[in-house]
Amino acid sequence: MLLYNTLTKRREEFVPITPGKVSIYVCGPTVYDYIHIGNARPMIVFDTLRRYLEHKGYEVNYVSNFTDVDDKIIKKSIEEGISSQEVSERYIKECKQDMDHMNVRPATVHPRATQEIDGMIDMISTLIEKDYAYEKNGTVYFRTRKDKEYGKLSHKNLDDLRSGFRALQVSGEEEKEDPLDFVLWKPKKEGEPFWKSPWSEGRPGWHIECSVMSRKYLGDTIDIHAGGEDLVFPHHENEIAQSECCNGVPFAHYWLHNAFLNIDNRKMSKSLGNFFTVRDIESHYDLQVLRLFMLSAHYRSPLNFSDKLMESAKASYERIRNAVDNLNFLIQHAGSGQMSDSEKEKAEELAGFTQRFDEAMDDDINTADAIAVIFDLVRFANSETGEESSKDFVQSVKDEILMLGDIIGMQFERKEEVLDSQIEALISQRQAARAAKNFALADEIRDQLAGMGITLLDTREGVKWKRN
Ligand code: AMP
Ligand code: ZN
Repeated sequence: MLLYNTLTKRREEFVPITPGKVSIYVCGPTVYDYIHIGNARPMIVFDTLRRYLEHKGYEVNYVSNFTDVDDKIIKKSIEEGISSQEVSERYIKECKQDMDHMNVRPATVHPRATQEIDGMIDMISTLIEKDYAYEKNGTVYFRTRKDKEYGKLSHKNLDDLRSGFRALQVSGEEEKEDPLDFVLWKPKKEGEPFWKSPWSEGRPGWHIECSVMSRKYLGDTIDIHAGGEDLVFPHHENEIAQSECCNGVPFAHYWLHNAFLNIDNRKMSKSLGNFFTVRDIESHYDLQVLRLFMLSAHYRSPLNFSDKLMESAKASYERIRNAVDNLNFLIQHAGSGQMSDSEKEKAEELAGFTQRFDEAMDDDINTADAIAVIFDLVRFANSETGEESSKDFVQSVKDEILMLGDIIGMQFERKEEVLDSQIEALISQRQAARAAKNFALADEIRDQLAGMGITLLDTREGVKWKRN
């Protein structure tokens, strides 16, 4: 599999450190509000990479953090008169709901910065011991010029950077030895959350959290580190500096960056105010449509968000779902069960779709081409199946569509809607069975409801139910 590596600016064959295993760290959101659809892009893209690696048989350890201490969180907590922790807890919960509805699987671990402060103090102490960091008035800075490799990810020239930074220098930073030095630890301001440290009561800088959480959950050297392209500099450059100077080994072998989601060809961002939250989109579209829209472009190409493109993604999604509906109808009404010889020959063509799909994904996660293969398959399904088809043949075509969809996290089969009235009717039947002491039937009905995603709760006020 080829992956474009920002570090080498080349597409490289992916070779994991440990055969059969992959470690991935993806920088996660700062949780002070609902996530916007720009934030959703790396979530969807790298979740798709994870799913594809699993499809290829790798065991994937996928770590993605929540940044839950930050100026923006503190600002929001002051505005709302609640603690920073309440703000971040609330938006972590909302973010997880959005992820679930976009069919982004939970990471193996979702570490939170505030729960990893000891590890950060440890790493900062080591950097000070090794002379890669220094303390001034309670603030700890990283001594950038001591790191001879600084700039290798963003391919920036240090002298250019330094003169640019000098012009931008903000007050209070005169104490730095060099304009490029960045903060590892800073003292608290009045009313801010803080932790005790050898240098001051304060909080960590943003970059150190990812170095520490990546090391703790994945080890000193990991396979893939990923995030949006705005993170290349300074965030990822600084993460590399901290980790490699502390641990003495390479931090990550492959650096992957998604391009931006734009709106009217301008970057979508909170600061520009031109953004939609995932929740906004959900009030108009199934979030599977958003996922299909995101994956219809290559992750390294800028993607412009527009109603027109969303409508087109919606139509594409419906076309695939209708094809699956049609196959379901044929399966239910098929005359014969087993494949005829000519169907067996046709069914062999299905492997060719998987192969083309895999080739596209092996080519630096080319989801646009992989989706084109699914459309070819839908065309195949529409032209090669009909009332005369055997059940087995139609089933194998349907399985192929669902399998390829699943690899990119798309669900093409309509979930049958379970109506409240259906549930209540089954509950009454169960009550009647219990009254008649037919406990076997009562249990059977409970299991049937469980299969529909309904849990029964026997309470003092009677039987209540909830959807899982
Ligand atoms: P933040 O909460 O700003 O740290 O962003 C979380 C993740 O979303 C990072 O990987 C960012 O690079 C990514 N991101 C933010 N805005 C966009 C955008 N408009 N398009 C694509 N990725 C974005
Ligand atoms: Zn990070």
